[in-house]
Amino acid sequence: MDLFNVFINETNEQLGAPKQKWAYNARDAWKDLGTSELVLMKDAAFELGGSGKAAVNYTCVTDDKSLVSGDEILLYGPDLKDLKADSTFARIAFLGVKEISKDEQEAFNTIQNMEFVKYHVFPEGYMMRVSPESNREQVRVSKKAIKKGISFKSVGADYIKQYHSNPNITAVKLIFITDPSVDYKALTERAKKVNEVTKTMNKILEGLPENLDCASCSFKPVCDEVEGLKELHFGKEGMKKMGKK
Ligand code: SF4
Repeated sequence: MDLFNVFINETNEQLGAPKQKWAYNARDAWKDLGTSELVLMKDAAFELGGSGKAAVNYTCVTDDKSLVSGDEILLYGPDLKDLKADSTFARIAFLGVKEISKDEQEAFNTIQNMEFVKYHVFPEGYMMRVSPESNREQVRVSKKAIKKGISFKSVGADYIKQYHSNPNITAVKLIFITDPSVDYKALTERAKKVNEVTKTMNKILEGLPENLDCASCSFKPVCDEVEGLKELHFGKEGMKKMGKK
């Protein structure tokens, strides 16, 4: 599964060294409510991505251990306790996975389960509003949670704990960004591309006809740009038959 490696490398290159970095420890995980919670405006300390500010989210999967070698949480910018007003925000997850088998059904289930985890993390006092269409992930943080000491380290540990409920995920690199000087436009563009690749990959894994012609397929622009998608659809043998590399 190397479809997303290019996006992981680009992200690493863009961000450079983090302000803070923590190794994952399950004991650090913030209390997870297991279900969504309503944080009212009057109880909110601030919103990540509020007041129309950037709020980017994307997830990349890879089986390249050199890209996601262990569980860690990275922070670029001020931590939650240091934010006094609505802030720009991005949360990026790199998921290290076991080599995904050639069995398409198993690969499909693996990817679907990862998507499932993404929408099933509910840190107390940290209300997420996710918009898959625009790749936005906005978060309202309660005053109570700030008082109790919520941090990206504890929220990140909650995420990683939930990701590890999926046995195919071997390691997680979770990145939080609040630094206003980061190029969020570049992150948004990348999130859009990652989303397109994920959608195309899901469609291929759901099962597209073997005899489908790329020339008349709506996914052609993505498959032309991202190496590996055509091979995922037609397999190595199919590619050879078509005379493609
Ligand atoms: S490989 Fe070709 S047919 Fe398959 S999804 Fe991509 S563009 Fe469509």
